[in-house]
Amino acid sequence: MKDLIRQLLAELGEDPSREGLVDTPKRVEKAYKFLTSGYDADIDRVLNNALFTVDYSEMVIVKDIDFYSLCEHHLLPFFGKCHVAYIPSTRVIGLSKIPRLVDVFARRLQVQERLTNQIADMIRDKTAPLGVAVVMEATHLCMSMRGVEKQNSFAVTSAMHGAFRDNARTRMEFLELIKLRSAVPGVREPAGYACVGDD
Ligand SMILES: [Zn+2]
Repeated sequence: MKDLIRQLLAELGEDPSREGLVDTPKRVEKAYKFLTSGYDADIDRVLNNALFTVDYSEMVIVKDIDFYSLCEHHLLPFFGKCHVAYIPSTRVIGLSKIPRLVDVFARRLQVQERLTNQIADMIRDKTAPLGVAVVMEATHLCMSMRGVEKQNSFAVTSAMHGAFRDNARTRMEFLELIKLRSAVPGVREPAGYACVGDD
């Protein structure tokens, strides 16, 4: 990877051997390895015995989870908040594991819509809940830095399964609890679209 970065610097019109850039390939490699470390993560190890059988079927919410990801169309960051809710049937996930699950999928090349779905699907698959909902709000640097449609550089996406899809009251209770005013998820379309990658 270091050779490629050196080549990229030269293609950009830089001198890769100048003092400020000489260690850049090493740093960039390290940074990208970390930012894409989700590919190597083993979900079962992340969850590591944090699935518990319980007699509890009220809504569990973890909101305002910070996340950072890379848009797969431009390799530029998008980042924001993730809100997760589910209604257990027989199993719960240790609360501290949910942000780690978000990181596993965020630390890959992503589009926001797929990232949102992957988190929801994983919680559904691991806990077989009565319902699961994930809402993500993010700023996309590929749009805001390039001055493309600034009003849409903030995107909201949602994935709803089970009770959150079928029951408007459950969905509204969740949205009320996360105080999301910018969108009405639950309808399939997100309120704003993430980078569409066509330029
Ligand atoms: Zn992009």
